[in-house]
Amino acid sequence: DDPKGEEKKAKLSFGDKVLSSYEIEILRNASRRGYLKDREKKMVEALRAEIEDEIMLFHGLKLTEREVIDFRFKRDLYELLKKTEYDDDVEGYRIPDAYDREGCIDQKKRFAVAEQRYSERKSGRGVTEQEAWEDHQAQKARVSFGAKDKQKVVDGYEFVFDDLTGLVEESCEAETAKHRGCSSKTVAEKAREEREFLPIHGYRDELLKLIAKNQVLVIVGETGSGKTTQIPQYLQEAGYTKRGKIGCTQPRRVAAMSVASRVAQEVGVKLGHEVGYSIRFEDCTSDKTVIKYMTDGMLLRELLTEPKLDSYSVIIIDEAHERTLSTDILFALVKDVAKVRPDLRLIISSATLEAKKFSEYFDSARIYLIPGRRYPVEKLYRRWPDADYLETVIRTVFQIHQTEPTGDVLVFLTGQEEIERAETNLKGRMMDLGTKSSEIIICPIYSNLPTELQAKVFEPAPKGSRKVVLATNIAETSLTIEGIRYVIDPGYCKINSYNPRTGMESLLVSPISKASAEQRAGRSGRTGPGKCFRLYDVKNLEPTTIPEIQRANLASVVLTLKSLGIHDVLNFDFMDPPPETALLKAFELLYALGALDGKGEITKVGERMVEFPVDPMLSKMIVGSEKYKCSKEIITIAAMLSVGNSVFYRPKNQQLLADNARMNFYVDTENVGDHIALLRVYNSWKETNYSTQWCYENFIQSKSMKRARDIRDQLLGLLNKIGIELTSNPNDFDAIKKAILAGFFPHSAKLQKNGSYRRVKEPQTVYVHPNSGLFGASPSKWLVYHELVLTTKEYMRHATEMKPEWLIEIAPHYYKLKD
Ligand code: ADP
Ligand code: MG
Repeated sequence: DDPKGEEKKAKLSFGDKVLSSYEIEILRNASRRGYLKDREKKMVEALRAEIEDEIMLFHGLKLTEREVIDFRFKRDLYELLKKTEYDDDVEGYRIPDAYDREGCIDQKKRFAVAEQRYSERKSGRGVTEQEAWEDHQAQKARVSFGAKDKQKVVDGYEFVFDDLTGLVEESCEAETAKHRGCSSKTVAEKAREEREFLPIHGYRDELLKLIAKNQVLVIVGETGSGKTTQIPQYLQEAGYTKRGKIGCTQPRRVAAMSVASRVAQEVGVKLGHEVGYSIRFEDCTSDKTVIKYMTDGMLLRELLTEPKLDSYSVIIIDEAHERTLSTDILFALVKDVAKVRPDLRLIISSATLEAKKFSEYFDSARIYLIPGRRYPVEKLYRRWPDADYLETVIRTVFQIHQTEPTGDVLVFLTGQEEIERAETNLKGRMMDLGTKSSEIIICPIYSNLPTELQAKVFEPAPKGSRKVVLATNIAETSLTIEGIRYVIDPGYCKINSYNPRTGMESLLVSPISKASAEQRAGRSGRTGPGKCFRLYDVKNLEPTTIPEIQRANLASVVLTLKSLGIHDVLNFDFMDPPPETALLKAFELLYALGALDGKGEITKVGERMVEFPVDPMLSKMIVGSEKYKCSKEIITIAAMLSVGNSVFYRPKNQQLLADNARMNFYVDTENVGDHIALLRVYNSWKETNYSTQWCYENFIQSKSMKRARDIRDQLLGLLNKIGIELTSNPNDFDAIKKAILAGFFPHSAKLQKNGSYRRVKEPQTVYVHPNSGLFGASPSKWLVYHELVLTTKEYMRHATEMKPEWLIEIAPHYYKLKD
């Protein structure tokens, strides 16, 4: 209905070449189809130089919406062209030679040329193609002439990229000595000796003096300098543990576990005795424990029962720069505790220079910098994002293996699934290329990796082989792995994001920040000069990541704060306040769940809910089960839901068998639902006396089941604690479903004519997850679901059939009958 607008859209220029609308249509079709036919390939090839220039240019500019659309189209075409080139590559394996060196003049110059051409075009002073080409060639010649000296600045153009100067070169002596370590020594002995070689070692006494003098100290030090492992030991040696424990928080479970195990080794004690850790659903401490590593979420929970943290003499908030939701809340709470406990020592430790902000927040607390060792890191990068970055990662691994001197490789990936895919892929490619597996040793590390496998990542690779570590963000600052010389960084991580409007929370794969990119690159320069292969251009990144508190579901936090007696949550002393809409949404939900009353005060129900270390909806489901006399079934379901998505597994060559096995748990056609199926899985496993063999036969992950059992035991204890009787109603599925609804009524959806679902109170279309037992079955009209996950669509994960009248029965304040 806007012919003029259409016309504008059709006039798309590629550099100085304006295409006819017919040509554009051909290319648009190709882009939609996803590959180029011969003739189209020729067309795009002819436009290649223009597209390259514009892509490069547009990365640096603020664009109008129209330009963005055009730009995407051009980039897509370029991707297709490159893909076609790869397809033509019969060998199937080509080294990605197209890494550019960051800070290289050539790159900068190209950018300048493109910019000039673009501004001329925009100002209407058109340059002919020939002129432009000549200019381009001339610039190129000049550039390659001067490019030998890569530090030189040509024609007054600044470097766009971080230059490599200013990094300290240091002798490798200390490090080599450390690695020479005598082989007859035990692991623990070696661990103890290594302490002396850490950068922090020389600052021990100064640090202790400062801690004695200052109640709050902000410590900044390069990753790997020894902050996490050493400071608690120094404090213990200085006698702080006589007055109470030393608590050290970590944003990640694996970090807490792994660091605790390392420190136990260094101190020479059994893990869980003097040195222990505590993470959700797993407490590995004892009465003897004086150094306690824990997730930040766990310390937050401890505040509920120990508001003044009386059993601690020192609290270390480690990895403060990560700014997780729990860490941010802890800042404010420990700041308060410190005021009433002058004897308590508070250490805020961070790997980045955000320290000033921390210091200001803690009333101008003293900052202490631990100088780190760092070797220069050469940064190489890919100018354009790759369509399939995992492929580029794998090619780069082999490129390094075949062309670079010894040194291990660290690859940053987004999660377990991607890591497993990369591992399979790498192994397959190793076989194809005849690479012996003794040459490349693959070590994955992510949060769900079984503890016994976590240690492998720290073991040095045998002589003559190269270790390739596939890690999540955990290796960015939380864990330091020795011997890494090469980092491959695709530039992504999973971040939690929350939409207050729909109440939907999702883990999205997002580009990292510049600060993260620098941290990642730095991991290659710990033991000697390193190299970082970036699959992206840092120029396009945001400077820092937004703190989680500004993009998270706050329901759980608000309930915790209320339970701690903080009435005015809106004016709470946040370091960076969350958006008000997110806070209000949290209040709304808690009110709907009955956890807060009309005045915003915590209710009896709310107090009971807080006891469970799970999200408010899940805890309401547990508390709500009392009324429907099915608490036994509900804690089983809650435990199974808490282990996440890893109950069933589908091996590649046995998917059909696995699917059949799974459907056995959905026998009852009248009571279809994933929640009930999870209950059946657990109960059947219990009937076989928790048999691993049974798991194996039924394509169930026994590891997940054991975890569910541990979680269930804990929930059982908590149920007991708040005085809810254990009642069972195994065949009354309606009762079980009503209890689920008591917590999850906001997650209800109604079938639409086209087979999709629509949320009952939100204008949002959602779909049954392909992993659900309901997928492809005859559809139920009404569903209640556990959570939404966003992949290609918004999918309901774990859904169960229900009746709409229950909504009105259970949540009359939330749902009303329509006439
Ligand atoms: P920071 O907290 O300053 O980043 P850490 O205290 O974590 O530094 O690390 C100090 C040293 O301890 C590093 O050299 C690291 O390799 C080593 N280390 C830490 N955890 C382990 C572990 N689980 N196994 C082996 N070495 C470890
Ligand atoms: Mg650390």
